[in-house]
Amino acid sequence: MFNKRIKIKELLAQLPQEQQVTVMGWVRTFRNNQFIALNDGSTNTNLQVVAQLGKFDEDLLKRLTTSASIKATGIVVPSLGKGQKMELKADTIEILGDSDAEVYPLQPKKHSLEFLREKAHLRFRTNTFASVFRVRHTLAFAVHKFFNEKGFFYLHTPIITASDAEGAGEMFHVTTLPLDNPPKNDDGTINYKEDFFGKATNLTVSGQLEGELGATALGDIYTFGPTFRAENSNTARHLAEFWMIEPEMAFYDLEDNANLAEEFIKYIIHYALENNREDLDFLAARLADEEKQLPQDKRSEMGLIEKLEFVLNNDFQRLTYTEAIDILRESNHNKKKKFQYPITGWGMDLQSEHERYLVEKHFKKPVILMNYPASIKAFYMRVNDDANPAEGRGNTVAAMDILAPGIGEIVGGSQREARLDVLLEKMKTMDIPAEEMWWYLDTRRFGTVPHAGFGLGFERMVQFVTGMGNIRDVIAFPRTPKSAEF
Ligand code: ATP
Ligand code: MN
Repeated sequence: MFNKRIKIKELLAQLPQEQQVTVMGWVRTFRNNQFIALNDGSTNTNLQVVAQLGKFDEDLLKRLTTSASIKATGIVVPSLGKGQKMELKADTIEILGDSDAEVYPLQPKKHSLEFLREKAHLRFRTNTFASVFRVRHTLAFAVHKFFNEKGFFYLHTPIITASDAEGAGEMFHVTTLPLDNPPKNDDGTINYKEDFFGKATNLTVSGQLEGELGATALGDIYTFGPTFRAENSNTARHLAEFWMIEPEMAFYDLEDNANLAEEFIKYIIHYALENNREDLDFLAARLADEEKQLPQDKRSEMGLIEKLEFVLNNDFQRLTYTEAIDILRESNHNKKKKFQYPITGWGMDLQSEHERYLVEKHFKKPVILMNYPASIKAFYMRVNDDANPAEGRGNTVAAMDILAPGIGEIVGGSQREARLDVLLEKMKTMDIPAEEMWWYLDTRRFGTVPHAGFGLGFERMVQFVTGMGNIRDVIAFPRTPKSAEF
């Protein structure tokens, strides 16, 4: 057996008592021909491995370059140097893999996040990205823990779907037909009957519709999987491939839905603070440092940890779309024409600048916006009976979006339309082919129940918790327009 190592994080939690251990990892730095700062990915804190002068031959010492991998065995003793409480006095050092310092792309200095994005295969070896990906792991684990404790079942909805009714975004086609010469119908359109599945298929944009099928039998389900949107928007909040968490609950109305979403968000943040404080402290310091470059008025009012604790300790602000429009219309920001998209009135879709104004300037806390105009939301959302034509207000639907400071929309959800006749009517007006959706409509035919659910974009959540400004820096290998490297 090769691997009898102790992880550095575990070792650092012990007292130095001359215990004999083996560690393995990558050299971060080697100084004075004696002190190795060793990192094994379990923590950002390096272990000082001491190669006593005269004990090792020069050839070996020359190979202790940045990112070389080594195995070291020795005795753990209290450290006399400052900065660490223990060190490993090495008896043996074995080079597992050399790293040519001349060509190794990362220097032991600060690199920009943009530079590291081009070196995404190696960026895990930096403190920032190691912290981000450990926090991402902790959050993913907390997601499963939360739902498991609540009796939800993890449902795996398909990645390849034939349904194009979701309308959540532009889709990627999945086909085995030859692109240079696809079979055609008489009218010149592509003959998908000859395709692999005998019909046109896409990568899923959401597991919700299938999730509803699960919820209306199992009670409470959630999905947690990749979703794909051919969004041609190059923003710091959109990916073409992202991970979404979609709980769907039978016997829930919109308020139940909002309560669950708020509890869920607080739970996973709390879990990360409790279980990964070291990495969050590191990321908080990183963010504070980054913000020093900004002019005073662009800096956050709170540090990262303070912000997360604030979110935990305060109720999210709940208000209706209609109330939000009134606030935005009356705002000085609008009156001084500072919005790129002016507030034209009830019925308009909110742009991210409006959402961010509400969250960051007006309420200064997460906001749950409810009851949007039916005309700007998806067909499956429950219609409220509140049209007021005299005031220019049509029906609203039982939708909710949760908006977070610095991120904007983090959750989108709704109570679903459970009444077959209302749903069919809605689909007709929105041109959604009911025949193709027969399986979805069956849930409303056979024992329909009030039910609700939401989708939380996992990367946006990771951004919020880690304070990383660009979504490309919280997923290992980002997929964005014109970029699918690695
Ligand atoms: P946005 O308006 O920000 O594009 P959306 O209205 O398209 O979001 P939904 O369809 O409601 O979003 O998706 C649910 C959640 O998935 C969103 O609240 C967001 O957290 C996340 N999300 C949506 N699109 C993306 C994307 N392209 N990249 C990463 N996360 C996304
Ligand atoms: Mn979108």
